[in-house]
Amino acid sequence: MSTLWRVAEVVSGVPETESSRTIGLRVDGLNGNLPGQHIDIRLTADDGYTAVRSYSVATAGMDEILEITVDELANGEVSPYLVRDLMVGDQLEIRGPVGGWFVWRPTDPNPVQLIAGGSGVVPLMSMIRAHEASENPSQFRLLYSLKSPEAGFYREELTLRQESPKLTVDYFYTRKVPEGWPSAPKRLTAETLLANVLPADVSPDTFICGQTMFVETVTEWMVQAGYPTASIKTERFGGTGGIR
Ligand SMILES: Cc1cc2nc3c(=O)[nH]c(=O)nc-3n(C[C@H](O)[C@H](O)[C@H](O)COP(=O)(O)OP(=O)(O)OC[C@H]3O[C@@H](n4cnc5c(N)ncnc54)[C@H](O)[C@@H]3O)c2cc1C
Repeated sequence: MSTLWRVAEVVSGVPETESSRTIGLRVDGLNGNLPGQHIDIRLTADDGYTAVRSYSVATAGMDEILEITVDELANGEVSPYLVRDLMVGDQLEIRGPVGGWFVWRPTDPNPVQLIAGGSGVVPLMSMIRAHEASENPSQFRLLYSLKSPEAGFYREELTLRQESPKLTVDYFYTRKVPEGWPSAPKRLTAETLLANVLPADVSPDTFICGQTMFVETVTEWMVQAGYPTASIKTERFGGTGGIR
């Protein structure tokens, strides 16, 4: 882990959805990252004005290259630039990877429940990739709440990875469902959430990530249902969007 700013070179930029892009960064001397960590990106304008934002790492343990996935917020200061304007060959200042709490380690013995709201799936994807690459046999289950099928990150990869007995993925669509989906779009409720997560009696470690209100609401439901607070780890991306 490094707390110093250093230079990262953009080595790839692939659209993930209409409003998001996965960006590959090469950082000299980087020694991979732990699944769930994030980096800080600092942009500096010609007049010296700087803006710093955090982005979770989507990949795990890839030496000098890591990937982030940025969702563009209309009127945002930094995300539209990263999604639309940043080009391969450009350089950025980054700090990290940082974070030791919202992290899954291949030596962790417990089953894992991942709960994502929208772009909150990014650090959870890093955990899924690390888990699949490891010998760790524990069960992983992802509950992914998103507006529509088109808004899903890593769609093809998640479909393929679901073939592994180590991973189950449950989707919840809040505004539009895929063709042939058995139910209408709906908000996630405590009842539907609890019917689609690993039960408390198998002692899962739970990782919840997304916009602040989403994370707080879901955490409260889990705690009220008897999941020990110490087994729940959360990452808040900011914003006020709740369960919509
Ligand atoms: C640890 C951490 C990891 C993160 N990882 C990711 C990631 O992997 N991918 C990603 O796309 N973003 C991630 N974020 C969010 C990211 O840091 C920025 O907040 C986001 O890109 C908006 O920046 P901006 O400069 O475009 O918008 P700003 O100019 O900062 O904000 C524009 C408006 O949007 C609101 N807003 C700010 N953040 C959010 C948000 N997350 N959702 C909705 N509204 C918001 C603000 O209140 C403001 O009204 C992460 C945040 C944290 C703290």
